[in-house]
Amino acid sequence: PAMEPEMSEEHKAALRSIKPQLLINGKFEDAASGKTFETYDPRTGEPLMTVAEAQAEDVDRAVKAARQAFDEGPWPRMSGRQRGNIMNKLATLMEKHSEELATLESLDNGKPYAVALAADVPLSVEHLRYYAGWADKIYGQTIPVEGKMTAYTLREPIGVVGQIIPWNFPLLMQAWKLGPALAPGNTVVMKVAEQTPLSALRVGELALEAGLPPGVLNIIPGDGPVAGAALASHKGINKVAFTGSTEVGRIIMRQAAENIIPVTLELGGKSACIICPDADLDEAVRGAHDALFFNHGQCCTAGSRTFVHESIYDEFVARAAKTASNRRVGDPFDRSTQQGPQVSQEQFDKILGLINKGVEEGAKLETGGKRHGDRGYFVQPTVFSNVTDDMTIAKDEIFGPVQSILKWSSVEEVIRRANDTEYGLAAGVFTKNINLANTISRALKAGTVWVNTWNQFDAGVPFGGYKTSGIGREKGEAALAHYTQTKAVYMPMAEPIT
Ligand code: ADP
Repeated sequence: PAMEPEMSEEHKAALRSIKPQLLINGKFEDAASGKTFETYDPRTGEPLMTVAEAQAEDVDRAVKAARQAFDEGPWPRMSGRQRGNIMNKLATLMEKHSEELATLESLDNGKPYAVALAADVPLSVEHLRYYAGWADKIYGQTIPVEGKMTAYTLREPIGVVGQIIPWNFPLLMQAWKLGPALAPGNTVVMKVAEQTPLSALRVGELALEAGLPPGVLNIIPGDGPVAGAALASHKGINKVAFTGSTEVGRIIMRQAAENIIPVTLELGGKSACIICPDADLDEAVRGAHDALFFNHGQCCTAGSRTFVHESIYDEFVARAAKTASNRRVGDPFDRSTQQGPQVSQEQFDKILGLINKGVEEGAKLETGGKRHGDRGYFVQPTVFSNVTDDMTIAKDEIFGPVQSILKWSSVEEVIRRANDTEYGLAAGVFTKNINLANTISRALKAGTVWVNTWNQFDAGVPFGGYKTSGIGREKGEAALAHYTQTKAVYMPMAEPIT
């Protein structure tokens, strides 16, 4: 395949639409230090754009702006309906700029343009609309109490929220975080991933155009241990929300403990995809393939342990290997491409290292296993069979296009093995037997279970992890609970006349 990536006029125009700076108090500005960093084109490893790099002093400025916007600005004071209108306007502007946003997403992250346009952008838009709808429907209760007294509750915003997001779905992770934070009237300082800052900055500008008051959404590109740590440990934030690795999640939680602020974490996974002997084999092979290879394996919910019943194991492995080897890897802007490059050199190296580990530890390499081409961060779709529970590839999160197929014989055994992990983000089962589907779904210790499907992410359905996969839920009504606090009001009342 031709690997010489094009920088078309559309690509250049999309890049020109960006102000590659920090968004603080409604203005795009450089870091006070003047520091910058490069974001790279994963197709080539060449620099794509130079972006302002937030340091602690910039984070401090952003938190102060968010504080002022919360304490004195119109956002928490306007009606929920007005906030909803502004959020809907932002969603509509994003929709209008779909192609530009999808282009930025592909250039920065490497995901296929067609996928960004068909999934990442519309899902982000839908998510914002869903929470715009909630903005005037967040209310408390009246509670009957003893004596001549009445009591009611109010659900108030928490205040300034610090949010830290990863690079695998830059637009969608931004929308997942912004929706439930903005709807009740919080103000936000968001640290975007250093690998993929571009689309988020464009959304920040569209938010201003939609009428979001200055200081309500502040965006600070920068490094995790510098800008991320300065944000998570800042005394001025009232809540922190993080999506990323379990390792960094632990650090964030310690910092939150120090300041006694609520924390929500969406962390790693090692999700089991269980294929039962009665499953439709074509559907199951396709489903398990998509569960792992979607977004180049860079999903916290990747079905990275495919458990296949012994009676269909060999046939399944043969078909899975064929499906993987047919996957079209190439330039994300080629409309037929299914898999572009991994996001960064670091991820590319880590994935190839884990593939070697799989071979060393005795798993059978059925297909792939090497880099694709000789430039950029492309990895061949890879399938291992004869994987056992103790192997590194069955335990560590690979975050790459590497499917590990394990063999099972009894239902009790596969449930036990599926749950024998520190993670609990997602899991799934392929079967036509409704009783088996129910038994297995109930027994799996995971925040989401998919039956005969995978990677369903409706805005209204809560998503989050059991065990070390996280704390709290994103999406749906559940997420709003993390972004509001309850005030109880008591008031004496005259004796009622009945
Ligand atoms: P990944 O492996 O997906 O890059 P990370 O957990 O390293 O996951 O990164 C997720 C987000 O957390 C990124 O925005 C990153 O910059 C940020 N981050 C990394 N280290 C820290 C840290 N020590 N404190 C706060 N944020 C961090």
